[in-house]
Amino acid sequence: MIKKSLYYSLALIIVLVFSWGCTSTEPQINEEQKIVKEQNVYYVTYKKVENAYYEMPPEMTDIEARNKEVNEFAPYLRGKKIFIDPGHGGDDRKNKSYTGKIIEADVNLRVSLYLRDFLVQAGATVYMSRISDQTVDLKYRSTMANKNKIDLFISVHHNAVPNITRSWMNYTSTYYHAKPENWEYEPCEKDVAKFIQRDLAFFMGNSGGLGSFDGTYSDYEIYPGEGFSVLRETIAPAVLVECAFHTNSMEEARLGVEEFNQLQAWGIFRGLGRYYRAGIPTIEYSNQTTPKKGIVEFQFRLSDMNGILPKTIEVFFDSTLVPHTFLPELDQLKFSVAAPLGEHEIRIIVANKNGNYALPYYKKVIIN
Ligand SMILES: [Zn+2]
Repeated sequence: MIKKSLYYSLALIIVLVFSWGCTSTEPQINEEQKIVKEQNVYYVTYKKVENAYYEMPPEMTDIEARNKEVNEFAPYLRGKKIFIDPGHGGDDRKNKSYTGKIIEADVNLRVSLYLRDFLVQAGATVYMSRISDQTVDLKYRSTMANKNKIDLFISVHHNAVPNITRSWMNYTSTYYHAKPENWEYEPCEKDVAKFIQRDLAFFMGNSGGLGSFDGTYSDYEIYPGEGFSVLRETIAPAVLVECAFHTNSMEEARLGVEEFNQLQAWGIFRGLGRYYRAGIPTIEYSNQTTPKKGIVEFQFRLSDMNGILPKTIEVFFDSTLVPHTFLPELDQLKFSVAAPLGEHEIRIIVANKNGNYALPYYKKVIIN
């Protein structure tokens, strides 16, 4: 009898343990959401990481959904040579959050490495100014990019307020070089900035700053007439992202989470994909013979899969705006100038119907 009851008890324990084990592998019901207040910060406990809050879109948690999206952008990114520049690093690790938990150089690198992975998966060729905690001279970052004849340069940073009393502040911003009224301004850089800014801010759940309507800024706002070294010295179109402020306590907490850094990279990746998907007009010089002395007519072919937006065309001859005609049915741009003998420079600016501008175009011509 004793033996029998022992068997029954053992069997009961096994059944209980087994059924408990089974139920524990079933999906857990989420904890009820509740709003919690800590000092002046409110957060929802669902998806809470320390005191940070963020939402993961389906493609971040479902690898198949993500692959599908990456593949959709692949036709536009394939073969593009993209240079990623994780800001700071090595000897330059002084930018820190107020608690010291976040070092800007490290977050820049994490986001950049995830961005590299997405771009490589989409078929782009990626160059990086650093892939670990290394010291890289500011000028050398652009030199490396220029040597490799890249298509696009993107510098990844995180921002800081100058004073702790402003640590409540947080936003996403993207910088381009110079201002529209400057000769050195290239409108295609603003296009890239616009696309990256929109998707990065969207996925982080941040707004842009109040200093501009779309969250993009000229680097002349920070250093008038000079801008940022990496944007000024890089020949290819270049932008710099300040993903968010690590001096903000909510942002600081989530910037320390790898999953969130990957989400940031996803925002930048999607912005780039959408930029290239909107198309870039091409400009071809189509004069058949060497221009001769007198009134010279120049011809160019402007083409774009989405169509050219004629009102955006600007033609400069030796940096002077000159009148032109454009025949859309032939993609043909024509203009005539009475140019003296010698070397001259033609600059053409044009956008497609999606609003994307052509890459910087400068053509040297010799009249003899
Ligand atoms: Zn920085």
